Parts: sequence; C-alpha cells; structure tokens
Amino acid sequence: MNLSPHSPLPERASRWRWLWVLPRLAFVLFVGGVALLLWMSDQADKEEKRATLTSDMLWLEQNLRFHLTRNEELLGRIDLAHTASAKAFESFARTLFGFESGLRQLIWLDAEGRLRLAHPTTMDPSLAGETGEAVPSRQSFRLARSLGKPVYSSAYPFFTNDWQFEVHVPVSREGQIVGVAVGIYRIRDILGDSVPWWLAERYRISIIGDSGKVLGTRSKIESSVTEEGYQVDFDPPGWGLALHAVPYHAPRPLASVLLSVSLVILAMIVLWSLWILRRHVLRRQAVEEQLQQEHAFRKAMEDSFDTGMRARNLDGEIIYVNPAFCRMVGWSATELIGRRPPMPYWADDYLDETRAIHDRILAGEGPEEGFELKLKRRNGEFIDVLIHEAPLIDAHGHQFGWMGSMVDITERKQAEERARQQQERLQSTARLVAMGEMASSIAHELNQPLAAISSYCTGAANLLRNNAPATDVVPALDKAVDQAQRAGKVIRRIYSLARHSENRFERVLLGAHIDAALSLMEVDIRQKGIRVTLDLAPQAVVDGDPVLLEQALFNLFRNAVESMRDTAPDRREILIVLSCADGYVVLTVADHGCGIDARVADKLFDPLFTTKAEGMGMGLAICRSVVENHRGRLSFEANPEGGTVFRILLPMAPQ
Ligand code: ADP
Repeated sequence: MNLSPHSPLPERASRWRWLWVLPRLAFVLFVGGVALLLWMSDQADKEEKRATLTSDMLWLEQNLRFHLTRNEELLGRIDLAHTASAKAFESFARTLFGFESGLRQLIWLDAEGRLRLAHPTTMDPSLAGETGEAVPSRQSFRLARSLGKPVYSSAYPFFTNDWQFEVHVPVSREGQIVGVAVGIYRIRDILGDSVPWWLAERYRISIIGDSGKVLGTRSKIESSVTEEGYQVDFDPPGWGLALHAVPYHAPRPLASVLLSVSLVILAMIVLWSLWILRRHVLRRQAVEEQLQQEHAFRKAMEDSFDTGMRARNLDGEIIYVNPAFCRMVGWSATELIGRRPPMPYWADDYLDETRAIHDRILAGEGPEEGFELKLKRRNGEFIDVLIHEAPLIDAHGHQFGWMGSMVDITERKQAEERARQQQERLQSTARLVAMGEMASSIAHELNQPLAAISSYCTGAANLLRNNAPATDVVPALDKAVDQAQRAGKVIRRIYSLARHSENRFERVLLGAHIDAALSLMEVDIRQKGIRVTLDLAPQAVVDGDPVLLEQALFNLFRNAVESMRDTAPDRREILIVLSCADGYVVLTVADHGCGIDARVADKLFDPLFTTKAEGMGMGLAICRSVVENHRGRLSFEANPEGGTVFRILLPMAPQ
C-alpha cells in the first residue's frame, strides 16, 4: 500500500488517453488487411479463371479449326467413284459424319453447280433452287469454283432456331474442276461435336454471327451466367463467326468461404474484446477517479485533524505520518518516514518504557483502551499524548502494520496537575479552617453555658455565705447542673460534628428539629419576650444529618433572637415558615431585628466575622457549610417589615 500522495488522476488519464488510438488503429489495420487479403485472393481467383478461360477457348478454337481443315481435306479428296453412285456417296458421307466433325449434310454439285447427290437427301432450298438469287451458297460455289479453293458461306438460318453454314470444296481431276463437294455444318452440331464435356461443364459456349447474334449455344444451364465472357474469332469461315464462352458462376471453394467467415468472426471477436476491454478500463478509470477523490477527501480530513496519525509496518518502520503528527513532534514527514526505533521523538527519560510499549504493540498486545506516553519535541519540550493503536489491514485482509492516532493531552495533564495541587492546598487550608472552626465553635458554643454556670454558682455561693436555706440554694445549683449538662451536650454535638467528616445521611423530618432547636433557646426567648410564630409543612422531609441540621437551625434562631436586642418589645417576633416547592424544602426565618448593613453583607458568611462584642463570627459560617454539605443554599434578604429574612433551600427527600 502506498500511503504517499499520488499525482492527480485526471492528468494521468489524459496523458494516457492517446493510447486508445493504438488498439483502434490496430483494429482498423487488421480489418483493412483482412479485406485486402480477401479482395486479392478474389482477384487472383478471377485472374486464374480468366487465364484458364483464355487457354480453353484458344484450345477450342484450334480444335474447331482442326476439324474444319481436316474436313476440307477429306472433302477435297472425294473420289469420283463416290460421286458415281448414290450408294457410294452415302457411304462416303457416313464415313465423314462418323468423325464427329459437325458436318451434317454432304452435297455433290457438278461443275455447273447442279445438284447431283446429297446425303441426307433433305434439300436445302438455296442449293436446289434454280432461281439464281444471290444466296450465300451460290456465291460460295462460284467463288470456290473460280478460286479452286475451299470457300465457306456465311451462316444462315435453318428452320426456326437453327443456323448452319457451308463449305464448298472444289474437286479437280487432272487439272479440271469436276465438281464441288459441299459440306453443311449445323452450328448446334459443331458445338455438340467439338466441345468436350469437361469444357461444357465450365462454360456456356456460343457461336456468334457477324451481327453479334447468337447462332448456337452449348449450355448446361441457360440463365446462370453473370460474368463477361471471352470471345475468339475463328477463321477460315471468314464470315465473322466467333466463339464466345462465359464461365459458369462456380460457387466459391469451401476453404475460401471458411477462411472469409473465420476472418470475419475473428474481426468481430477482436472488436468485441476491444469493446469489453474499453468498458473494463473505463470502469476501472471511474473507480480510480473515485478512489482518488476519496483519497483527496481523506487526506484533507487527515491534514485538518488535530489528531496526529502515524502508521508503521510490522517491523516498526514508520510508513506514514500526517501533518498534525509532524506539528506535534516537530519533525518533518520526510525525516520520519523510514525511521525505525528508537524514534527521535522518544523521551530519553522514558526510553525503556516507550520501547516496551512499542514492542507490545508490534506483538499485538497493546492496550486496546489506549495509553498515555510522554514524548519529546524536536526543541526538547515534553508532550503528553494519548495513543490508540489499530491494525492496518490490506485489501486481502492481511495485517501489514499499525496505525496510531495521537492526541496531545499536555494541556489537559497540566490542568489536571494544577487542579490536583490546588485541591491539595485547598484541602490543607480546609483542614486548618475546620480546625479553627471547631476550636471557635467549641469556644462559641460553650461560652453561654459556662457563663450561666458561673453566674448560677456565684449566686449559690452568695446564698450560702448569707446562710440562706438549702431550698433557696438548690434551684440555683440545679440550674448550674442543667447548664453543665447542656455544655456537655454541646461538646458532644461539636465532637460528633467533627467526627462527621463523612456524610451519614438519614431521613430528617425538619419540623421536629426546628422544635428541638427552639427548645434550646427557650430561656432566652422567654426572657426577651419574643413571639415565635411557626408555619411548618409536615411533609418537609430531607435526606441529611440531623445533628448538623439542628445545629444550623439553632445558629439561625439564635442570631434572630440576638438581632432583636434593641427592638421594641412589641415588635419582637420571629416568623418561621417551612414549606415545599419544586422538589425543595424552603425554610425562612424572619425577624424584626437590626437588619444587615449593606457594607458587611459580603463578609457575613466569612468565619470569625462578627459585629457583636461577644460574638465569635462562626455561626453563619457553620450554618452555610452544613447547608451546602446537604446540596442546599443559604441566603438572606432584608425583611420588608424591618429586620432580616434568612432562607435555607434543601433538596426534598424522594418520596
Ligand atoms: P456571631 O453571631 O457570633 O456574630 P454569626 O456568624 O452567627 O456570628 O453572625 C455574624 C454576623 O452576622 C453577626 O455578628 C451579625 O452582625 C450578623 N447577623 C447574623 N444574623 C443576623 C440577623 N438575624 N440580623 C442581623 N444581623 C445578623
């Protein structure tokens, strides 16, 4: 697999597109060559046929001429004995006809041209007639007699569709022409006698007159000739007779037909394969183009990543890195590709650890959930990365390497470290504050009972000094005991508050604890003549720590009582409302006290902040810690009727 960028495909495609001309050209050349070959073979065939036709016709012409010449000689040698009697003449004629020379009638004319003998006896009117018109035969007779040489007549029709001509051969004895032997050739018979069967098989052979009229034909089939024939004149007839032959349209030889058919089939197969090949290549090109686009898309995606990508083969050699990876480690792709471990970005201090995990990954035992590693940038900076490795699988399903995605978590790590340190600092501060708060709380909570015990004991001592009866002293001592017990209770509560470092939550019916907290304030409330109005929703139940919640309530009530020190007795009133709304329990404690100055509002919840001479400044701080510990909120606002309203919001316990 090549992970390096390719050259753009369309460019390559256009570069090689001209190659398509080659198969097309080859195909055209092939088809042209085949057509030329077939044409040439056809031409050679025709040429051969023509040559054969010419030689055949020349041979036929020679043959005819030979027959005619031989007949001339034989006729010239007619014996007078033959002409003496009809019987001898018939015998001579029959012998002559027996040579199959085309002769069909033999006539003996005396020196004056009178018909003496004929065989067969069927008379030609022109020969027998006495009219003396210029019929060819008379002319031929006169010419033959005057020349003393054989003379041929022109061809003339015989009956309806037959033609014949004559040869007049003068016969002389002792220098005297004694008569003329006339041989009559019937053209149809000449053809029948002198054209051998094998020639007749090949050609339609005709004898043509001087006017171009066909005088006789030897033909196997009348209408199967299509081609131009070959014509040869044959003399001595001398009347323009010519032999004309037209070859029969012979079917092409099977081998030639097979060759043509195979070539055509071959051409079609070549065309078909070219078409298939082209389609395949086009499809392939389309797929390649799609792949290229996908590659470009993926590359753009990889390049835009913040995640570093690094691929290694099974030997651990780097085969691919994306720009984000290069940015992360500060080395360029060319510097990294081909590198083997140890990599230049491995941190020296963690070399063994890095190599171990590298070996584990190559062995296929890398942690699936990813792992964190410290690497070193080229400039020496360290970076923390989170790496996930996945196997690289090729098209055949074989693994050929590992692809690692790398996220820079340096900032996250630093933030985590900062948070951890801050947390540690906070915890130690919180511990200090808590200790301080506890010490202050103890002092705060014990202040009042100790003061009460002190005053009761002082009162009892004064009574004893004045010899007061025991019945007067005992109540004071009882009250001192009560206060001592209360102090013990407070210590236990604060102790349990300190112990409650971890939440021990239970269902708390808030109304009951309001009553309990108020009962602790009972003496004060009564002494100061404060009216307490309660409006408590019975279903106000929260999940919480009852001791802590009661402590928080007590602090709020006590502040309300103390704030009304300077309030007119008739306005000394505390309104406590407990209600439920929207899944929350809302408790408001409204007093008509001195109110809260806007300048101190910000610092109200700070530990040790107080405006009271004897105050510890811990009540509201404890109160808010407790409320927030219960996922609630503590707030205050000015009471429209004068004084302050403190509000506690706590999540309601699920029913
Ligand atoms: P302390 O009561 O010991 O001063 P607290 O934390 O309970 O400590 O209260 C801090 C200060 O908030 C008080 O000194 C007082 O000035 C103010 N404060 C608290 N509750 C009230 C209230 N109901 N009305 C007016 N001022 C209040």
